[in-house]
Amino acid sequence: MNRERSKQLYEESVNYLPGGVNSPVRAYKPYPFFAKKAKGSKIYDVDENEYIDYCLGYGPVVFGHANEQIIKDATNQLKLGTDYGVPSQKELELAQEVVERVPCAEMVRFTNSGTEATMSAIRLARGVTNRKKIIKFEGAYHGAHDAVLVKSGSGAIGKPDSPGIPEESTRNTLLVPFNDEDALTRMINDNKGEIACIIVEPIMGNIGCVPPKDGFLQFLREITEENDIILIFDEVITGFRLSRGGAQEYYGITPDLATFGKIIGGGFPIGAICGRRELMEQFAPSGGIYQAGTFSGNPMSITGGLSAFKILDMKAYKTLHDSGKYLRSGMSDILEKLDINYQINGVESMTQIYFTDVDVYDYKTAQTSDTEGFLKYFHVLLDNGVFIAPSQYECAFLSIQHTKEDIDKTLNAIEIALKKVV
Ligand code: PLP
Repeated sequence: MNRERSKQLYEESVNYLPGGVNSPVRAYKPYPFFAKKAKGSKIYDVDENEYIDYCLGYGPVVFGHANEQIIKDATNQLKLGTDYGVPSQKELELAQEVVERVPCAEMVRFTNSGTEATMSAIRLARGVTNRKKIIKFEGAYHGAHDAVLVKSGSGAIGKPDSPGIPEESTRNTLLVPFNDEDALTRMINDNKGEIACIIVEPIMGNIGCVPPKDGFLQFLREITEENDIILIFDEVITGFRLSRGGAQEYYGITPDLATFGKIIGGGFPIGAICGRRELMEQFAPSGGIYQAGTFSGNPMSITGGLSAFKILDMKAYKTLHDSGKYLRSGMSDILEKLDINYQINGVESMTQIYFTDVDVYDYKTAQTSDTEGFLKYFHVLLDNGVFIAPSQYECAFLSIQHTKEDIDKTLNAIEIALKKVV
């Protein structure tokens, strides 16, 4: 496949943008393809190659690229202005939608990214409990702020913590393996009365795709209640992907706070924190816990979110769930046919194949994967018109625009890739 123009652009970009990209996971060897446009389930590069897209902007584009509803609503909003700096009715409407859909949501604060959302949710938890320590799970990614950049998933997995983060910033971040009730109980007992919150991705989406074991989220709910610890679900990936009301609705477990991003902006930059009223009211200006942003509640992002909610009805979730089942069952058939004992993990429209024969249920087991083999697999898929994220520790996403024909083509490419690589 010819990607000459992408190569040229990359070679020029590295002189102007660190590593040639604006977020590290986008850079892979020898060079990433440069996007020209995207429509529905497809993304096109500057050399006119077409790919079926399972990266979907790392999750947001669940409604498909250049969705007609979003084009219409965003175009109308563009004409009405793109930044007000004062409240607007649509912010209220989107907050009302979130409250109607999400079990834990009584109030909402919009931010500009998932990073800001988790940073502010943790500050809120620390502020209301007057405690410093937080618990996160090994391999969980909660954005690029200091307190959570410890054993933090896809971008940093296996690497030391980033230089530039003072040791003091992560000293109060306690790490526990996902799905390990005993380790969590020990950690809480060893730090009695000192833990402000537990932050968790209900499905870990930054070490591939790792679902919670049966009862694990329920256990989290119970142990946090018993110990007056605030439970935060980081639903930046799972929110509005798994179901109308996110992972908390899907699994029937209601946290105290939840963070969102990605899908809730309809493809525009956004984040959100929501939760119980008495907690949320502690945010300034009704409370004393500072949280702010010039672009927060930006009319384009809010409009995108309202459009996304129009699109994401029960029928949309059925489509996503059916597609996920179809994809994974096709992948299992291929593995069986080729007699390869790799793991396929997935929940509804989130899927990952692990290049390991070990059952993957946490960070350590995810690291048994042959990541170099996975990267070769990624390249063969790309050459066969299928784009997944270029890392074993990301996850393949489906949109409502992926057709059975798309998935059949993808399965064909997967078979070619596995035959070549394994
Ligand atoms: N939380 C989770 C679970 C994420 O996957 C991400 C980003 O991938 C974030 C937080 C950070 O969101 P953002 O990249 O919008 O800052």
